[in-house]
Amino acid sequence: LAMKELRAEQQLTVALRIRPISEAELEEGASIIAHRMGEQMVVLLDPSEDPDDILRANRSREKTFMFDMVFDHNVTQEEVYVSTTKNLVEGVISGYNATVFAYGPTGAGKTYTMLGKDSEPGIYIRTLNDLFRAIEATSDDMDYSVSMSYLEIYNEVIRDLLNPSSGFLELREDSRGSIQIPGITEVSTTNAQEIMQLLTKGNKQRTQEPTAANQTSSRSHAVLQVTVKQKSRAKDINEEVRVGRLFMVDLAGSERAAQTQNRGKRMKEGAHINRSLLALGNCINALSEKGGSRGQYVNFRDSKLTRLLKDSLGGNSRTVMIAHISPASTYFEESRTTLIYAYRAK
Ligand code: ADP
Ligand code: MG
Repeated sequence: LAMKELRAEQQLTVALRIRPISEAELEEGASIIAHRMGEQMVVLLDPSEDPDDILRANRSREKTFMFDMVFDHNVTQEEVYVSTTKNLVEGVISGYNATVFAYGPTGAGKTYTMLGKDSEPGIYIRTLNDLFRAIEATSDDMDYSVSMSYLEIYNEVIRDLLNPSSGFLELREDSRGSIQIPGITEVSTTNAQEIMQLLTKGNKQRTQEPTAANQTSSRSHAVLQVTVKQKSRAKDINEEVRVGRLFMVDLAGSERAAQTQNRGKRMKEGAHINRSLLALGNCINALSEKGGSRGQYVNFRDSKLTRLLKDSLGGNSRTVMIAHISPASTYFEESRTTLIYAYRAK
């Protein structure tokens, strides 16, 4: 436990979640090639090699990767939330920003981790519940207000998932240089069930179009933005407002455009997704390397996603990346590229 808490203090945490193998994968004859080896390691086997050859001389394509945490099918939604995100709540209430990403190819479990389902709620709802609880438990000389909005970035265009008919939204910098989205729906309910309904409904509005690779491929980044504003009840400092912001992002599928054999419109979408993911990877990588002089050479301007997150990556902000893979042999190539991307993020 001490180890876990220590790691949680890091500014950048990269976790890996390996989902259970599915019935469909087993029926296809897939085998399990991704194995958790202790708290921080995963080994990925190359399915093109003979698994029965125990004395394999050439194990060169068997790869191990290290992360801050590795979760497999034995780990519950609650445990993933507690070890990755729960400890960000205190900071957000104190006026700090934070971002949690779900990264990985389509079908690897990103939406399961972030949204989950009614019986197994994910990080979104658990975080909001803890935020409300923590605010209730704080002394009452401060006034807090919590609001959330849910948006998607698709083809470098922003849409309000809580009000999809409102058209395209723009990013603006306010006078203090912080990023705003004029016109976006801000909901301030504290009712967890109502929030889950809003998010589930919003999620159905995400742009999902069939591609050769996957019928329900998610082509968009879904961003849940939670804002906590606080001000003192004391009259003389009534105007002092501290704002903490938490972004929870269900990223677009990371499968490469080249693998989906797309043409025309789809190809462009793939390029956009790669541009956003590439920009994000570059930002996170730069932030993790720069240490003290964070932010100096990071180009947030490269994509809508990184512009939106400008104030919530680096600086005093904390960033958690949860990479997702399927354990199935049929996902070998996607798993390999995901592990390399996430490993490099650190
Ligand atoms: P993605 O959002 O990355 O495309 P999903 O979250 O939709 O992937 O997951 C694909 C399928 O696998 C869904 O049916 C989902 O319910 C299931 N699944 C994903 N992760 C888990 C998990 N940890 N435990 C059980 N089922 C999971
Ligand atoms: Mg999804």
